Amino acid sequence: MAARFRGLALTFDDILLEPSASSVIPSEVKVSTNLTKKIKLNVPLISAAMDTVTESSMAISMAKMGGIGVIHRNLTIDDQAGQVRKVKRSESGVITDPITLSPQATLEEANMLMSEHNISGIPVVNDHRLKGIVTERDLRLETNLSKKVEEVMTKSQVITTKVGTTLPQAEKILKKYKIEKLPVVDKKGQLKGLITWKDLSKIKMYPAASKDENGRFLVAAAIGVGNDMLQRSTALVAAGVDILIVDTSHAHHKNILKAVPLLRKAFPNKELIVGNVATASATAALIKLGADAVKVGIGSGSICTTRDVAAVGVPQFTAILECSKAAKNSRVPMIADGGIVFPADIVKALAAGASSVMLGSLLAGTDEAPGDIIISSDGRRYKKYRGMGSYEAIKVRGNDRYFQKEVPEGVSGKVPYKGSVSGVVKKLVASLRTAMGYYGANEIHDLCNTQYWQITGAGMKESHPHTVITDADEETFH
Ligand code: 5GP
Repeated sequence: MAARFRGLALTFDDILLEPSASSVIPSEVKVSTNLTKKIKLNVPLISAAMDTVTESSMAISMAKMGGIGVIHRNLTIDDQAGQVRKVKRSESGVITDPITLSPQATLEEANMLMSEHNISGIPVVNDHRLKGIVTERDLRLETNLSKKVEEVMTKSQVITTKVGTTLPQAEKILKKYKIEKLPVVDKKGQLKGLITWKDLSKIKMYPAASKDENGRFLVAAAIGVGNDMLQRSTALVAAGVDILIVDTSHAHHKNILKAVPLLRKAFPNKELIVGNVATASATAALIKLGADAVKVGIGSGSICTTRDVAAVGVPQFTAILECSKAAKNSRVPMIADGGIVFPADIVKALAAGASSVMLGSLLAGTDEAPGDIIISSDGRRYKKYRGMGSYEAIKVRGNDRYFQKEVPEGVSGKVPYKGSVSGVVKKLVASLRTAMGYYGANEIHDLCNTQYWQITGAGMKESHPHTVITDADEETFH
């Protein structure tokens, strides 16, 4: 016996989508989608669970823009849960778990908390009861930082509101009393939340933001199936994570198939995404075990060396086609993960049947990705980007995403600096809308009605700017 020929497999660069008759206006198409069976996104973009891509800052920005971020797991359990908490606490309207101080705390402690969390006022509580509020203004003229907070805080006439206050009602109160912070207090005088002017004004700037039923940003977090799986998941769920993502390089494996039912049982109401896979049979197996979405992509990532090491994988366009066919009856959404390096790859992945796409290299160069800007000798700006299976990333904590720690399955490098992630996401969404106009697609799902052509090397050359020496500042995407 020898290996059997399976067929010709294609990836994004191998194909182009055929235009169709259209009456679609790009600015009017709907780019919302199902991330999981229950959770919807207004924009089909997810930032990858990688330590050079997604921590709280990226996750907050992705959620603001209508997508979502997946907090990586190259962190201790406490640190990863802390990242989730930061997202859930941020600018969501009502902060349900506000940072507080005791009346006995010093002004120095108050100062430190304010700068650490970039906030300008903190409710002061004793045994959960609201005693006052201390703001930057109260501290500004104080020179003796060992003074107690209770000596300078506003005690009397703190305007509060009751539990259940809606955001429009809160806005009226803030305006009426010309205040910036409105503590939410229950009948016993216990602090239950905080509504701030800053948050309310930001909410208006992001009408498409991804939010939970309490108006807090949606966030996902990656977990492995090692010994700490349940402990890590429990901490993440306690921190308010909306989706757990089983983040493995080969989900069609006994260890993962055993872990999924355990997670289902432990967290029956949490959405569970499982990956990665590249075949119909793996997709069907995970759906049968109750995955709420399946992530597709083996060896397709830009920093990935799995195919070099293990000769394994299915070129990504075919992998998505195969997996989405297997998922069709169940309506479990597919997420295309890895290898999306041009805006057009997003369109191709969605046309192949994915409902959303996960991005690493396209987002790693933004301000919100962890890490500093690197300036090269010629003055160009970059940011570090590395595979989670690269030597460098494995050194941080060890990583059980890959089978063996001795063989790296990823590389480390850098990508061009791109400014804010909101700018990048806006461009990607604009490209998607343009594309939908060419195919007469009113909704993302309609892209699946397109037909595709396999192209030759010459066809690919023709598809990119050619014979022209482009200006250095032109964005050519290749
Ligand atoms: P990109 O968008 O850069 O093409 O790919 C990002 C995806 O690559 C991630 O979401 C993840 O699935 C995958 N990935 C991340 N690090 C590694 C790695 O070190 N090795 C492999 N094989 N895949 C990786």
